[in-house]
Amino acid sequence: MSSDSLVHDPAAVLREVFGYAQFRGPQREIIDHVVAGGSGLVLMPTGGGKSLCYQVPALCRPGVGVVVSPLIALMQDQVEGLRQAGVRAAALNSAQSPEDTTRTWRALRARELDMLYVSPERMLSGGFLERLAELEIALFAIDEAHCVSQWGHDFRPEYLQLATLAERFPDVPRLALTATADERTRAEIVAKLRLERGRVFIASFDRPNIRYLVREKDDTRRQLLAFLAEHKGEAGIVYARSRSRVERFAEDLREAGFEAIPYHAGLESGVRAAALERFRRESGIIVVATIAFGMGIDKPDVRFVAHIDLPKSLEAYYQETGRAGRDGLPAVAWMVHGDGDVPQLRRFIADSQAGEQQKRIEHAKLDALIGFVEAATCRRQILLAHFGERLPEPCGNCDICLEPGRTVDATEAARKALSAVYRTGERFGPAHLVDVLLGGDNERIRALGHQRLTVHGLGKELDRGQWRGVFRQLLALGILVPDPDGHGGLQLGPDELVRPLLRGERRLELRLPAARAERRKEKKARGSIAGSHGAASPVDAEAADPAAFDALKAWRRDQARAQGVPPYVVFHDRTLLEIAAQKPATLEQLGSISGVGQAKLARYGEAVLALLRLMPAHEG
Ligand code: ADP
Ligand code: ZN
Repeated sequence: MSSDSLVHDPAAVLREVFGYAQFRGPQREIIDHVVAGGSGLVLMPTGGGKSLCYQVPALCRPGVGVVVSPLIALMQDQVEGLRQAGVRAAALNSAQSPEDTTRTWRALRARELDMLYVSPERMLSGGFLERLAELEIALFAIDEAHCVSQWGHDFRPEYLQLATLAERFPDVPRLALTATADERTRAEIVAKLRLERGRVFIASFDRPNIRYLVREKDDTRRQLLAFLAEHKGEAGIVYARSRSRVERFAEDLREAGFEAIPYHAGLESGVRAAALERFRRESGIIVVATIAFGMGIDKPDVRFVAHIDLPKSLEAYYQETGRAGRDGLPAVAWMVHGDGDVPQLRRFIADSQAGEQQKRIEHAKLDALIGFVEAATCRRQILLAHFGERLPEPCGNCDICLEPGRTVDATEAARKALSAVYRTGERFGPAHLVDVLLGGDNERIRALGHQRLTVHGLGKELDRGQWRGVFRQLLALGILVPDPDGHGGLQLGPDELVRPLLRGERRLELRLPAARAERRKEKKARGSIAGSHGAASPVDAEAADPAAFDALKAWRRDQARAQGVPPYVVFHDRTLLEIAAQKPATLEQLGSISGVGQAKLARYGEAVLALLRLMPAHEG
């Protein structure tokens, strides 16, 4: 690109530089707004396409686009990716040598750069902004803008000082971007980065290519291995709560023949960096990690994220699972949860140093998470509703949608459960209540006289595990609530939820675990019911010739290695799949494939065509 003072057409830039035919979601609107000089905030899920929202306007407007990004490790890949597309890009951060830095400034003054990536520390260091003021700036992009939020877990004090850009560069558009959706963070970004006069753009937070599978825990190790067996050779992340569990499961997976590496904050930073590097550059690596493995994983072809322990909140779950399938190809978010998880999380909260107010917030977040795992309706609908978005139809790509028939009409069971709570005086926890319903005869029951209650022994149609499920879900739905003192007792929820149920005006569907006897049978039979992979993506992976795809991947690996860049910087899987499906015979045909821009066509076109010519003409 040449940075003359002409304003380029965004659609042409998208096509010629990035090789894409169409804008996605609100990209077009955002880009037009910024090209016209507007500022704003962009909320878009991971993988939604935030980068183009500033890269395209930076190339359309005269001057250099300046991107503030907190993730030094990623900058180089971003810069490399842009260079591959023919964009003149550079980075300034602590990883650069003084010579590199001098060269970059020289290029900036000579108007020879289209995009500059800067760490916030560098940006705010002495004299930097003064030097920047001498240049023509196309725009400022502030990536990971939630780092300005003191509530969030990624708070970076330097980010607060970025407000100064508003005063120093009043005429330069400023675009803040984040994948963190909640309203408080949004308001904080707008206020702290002085974006009051800008627009807010919110993309859908749905990630249709991610399949959500939530399972009850019975034998975590066995369940995980069975799941991974369906994903041999694929890159993925397994999240566990503690360092010791990370170590243990990484070991287990290695023993079972997987390329698994542990990652947690207790490891030396060099070890962690090496793990991240392997994960990014090699294929088929599984990282077993605590949440320390977080921001900065922008690998597009992570095929699964597995949780063997509950995440802290639905926000955390969404962010963690969002690291799967950024390339838009089918990916799986898999999670097991068990009876012990919630009490343990509650204890963590109770024992933490946080103030009372913060603890209440944490408990409320946990409630939302429980609502999700105990759900009897489409997971995606619940997840999106949590972010204020309504999905009108069930998604067809989660365990609830895909494995129906496990929900049962539990109206009667719910009434019995409520009755047990009420008749025992709203003081007891589920363990005792279930005893009563099952007609238990123990000392405690007799001491309390509970064997004389009408509900005693009234619930023998369900087993203990199923009753626990009923209580958990009633709690998740707010029909039962925990006693305010936190002794573990259950009370009836608000009248408007409880009464219609007791009066028979409302029916209730719940998901019940299989009865114990059936569960044992299923355990033996499992393994044969491997999950089928739906094609939730517009790229039809089935149509690709596997031999051609393999050959293209091998070629890409060599290219990447020779240049010292990650493979996806050369071409994404998605692009290779499409090439392997269409088998273009000419440069023109190849150039029409999504992800093949002019620079890549010129650089790799002939090699790719030559490779395809070596393949057998037709695969039957
Ligand atoms: P984010 O930063 O929002 O997580 P990226 O900007 O990395 O997401 O984009 C995710 C992927 O989607 C990238 O591979 C990108 O090239 C691709 N992408 C973005 N916009 C488009 C588009 N309009 N058409 C096709 N692919 C796109
Ligand atoms: Zn669904």
